[in-house]
Amino acid sequence: MGEELKKKLFNVKKDGWEEADEAERKEIFNISEKYMEFLNQAKTEREFIKKARELADKNGYKDIMEFETLKPGDKIYFVNREKSMYLAIIGEESIENGMHIIGSHVDSPRLDLKPNPLYEDTGLAYFKTHYYGGIKKYQWTTIPLSIHGVIVKKNGEKIELNIGEDEKDPIFTITDLLPHLAQEQMEKKLKNGINGEDLNLLIGSIPYKDEKITEKVKLNILDLLNKKYGITEADLNSAEIELVPAFKARSLGLDESMVAAYGQDDKVCAYTSLAAMMNLKNVKNTAVCILSDKEEIGSIGNTGMESHMFDFFVSEMLNKLGINRPNLLDKVFCFSKMLSSDVDAGFDPIYASVSDKTNAGFIGKGIAIVKYTGARGKSGASDANAEYVAWVRNVLDKNEIKYQLTELGKVDVGGGGTIAYILANKGTDVIDCGVPVLSMHAPYEVTSKYDIYSAYKTYEAFWKE
Ligand code: MN
Ligand code: MN
Repeated sequence: MGEELKKKLFNVKKDGWEEADEAERKEIFNISEKYMEFLNQAKTEREFIKKARELADKNGYKDIMEFETLKPGDKIYFVNREKSMYLAIIGEESIENGMHIIGSHVDSPRLDLKPNPLYEDTGLAYFKTHYYGGIKKYQWTTIPLSIHGVIVKKNGEKIELNIGEDEKDPIFTITDLLPHLAQEQMEKKLKNGINGEDLNLLIGSIPYKDEKITEKVKLNILDLLNKKYGITEADLNSAEIELVPAFKARSLGLDESMVAAYGQDDKVCAYTSLAAMMNLKNVKNTAVCILSDKEEIGSIGNTGMESHMFDFFVSEMLNKLGINRPNLLDKVFCFSKMLSSDVDAGFDPIYASVSDKTNAGFIGKGIAIVKYTGARGKSGASDANAEYVAWVRNVLDKNEIKYQLTELGKVDVGGGGTIAYILANKGTDVIDCGVPVLSMHAPYEVTSKYDIYSAYKTYEAFWKE
């Protein structure tokens, strides 16, 4: 009797794999395969947006600037400086009733080159870096790194770099001290083990053949760059070059149940929401997909979510729908609903002490719904209203999607934030929701294929509602 009552009253979350039948398992592995393929070609925000645009074009989406007027069913997008993008399908109902927005970010922690990166020391040539986002610096030494980005010449010509991904390419690395001589380093606190200023990328060692000159290795590197790309050292001033792990996205585990890859925060949510949008047909409410940049450094700048670029996009929709009037933009935001789709900290049994087991996000239990983020007394949190949480629960349950309500870590242990608060500040109902990740922000992050599938299903259901 107690057992029956327990079944009725307890909120028990089972592992997703246990309930997935053969057909569902096939679907889970299929979507993860496509996700890994996409990741391997989209390691940076620029590469992600480029691929997203190609996908959108293939699926009948067009640049909003090409439209004179808009009507229900139209599929549009806007690309902001090659680093962020908004996509939308105009809904059957008036946009005045609000949009259904899913927002993720496509930037990930990495190492950026400094504006004057190239130098030579003792016969070795290096690129100096400045890390981007929250990294554990020691994780970025002695791994294969690849070079991605753009160099823009004064005449506007843009050179795209991608070195280290092709099997035939060379790779690069940052060296570390041998344990034999690391006695002093090993005594340091982990966070001080590697200095930010020492994250210098080893890029060459052959001197230019000329007895009389100095900095021969640097000259040889510049000569190579000049012959291949037509650039000089000064052109590196106007460049955005990012170093990312040269690892490929791979299936993880003997059962192949997980994905190991760089940049899954937050490309796992970005990809699944983009893929879900590509398969959408007609929607009741205008469906919007945001792929934002700069989340890892505070969402600031004109490609970050804090910028007015998104307002511009929505205003353009209102203009081209022929309904715009003073303050309508505010109204649309106030009546909108949003999933801030960003990854969650997955519960790691090896580091169990940082999580509250009854409120942690578990790998393989489906999408994690995070009512609030923030740290120390919910400071800085966008705390979703109970009414909105109930609405989201209803949508997920109706569509038989597995989900878990979670919190990022134990009270006072730490915390985090997403782009949720930015739209919440405009009056939109927002809740964080995403895939739990192990080793978040590390060069190789781990997710469950079940949760990737669950995220896809969640985003699809949200837009179809
Ligand atoms: Mn994130
Ligand atoms: Mn992050």
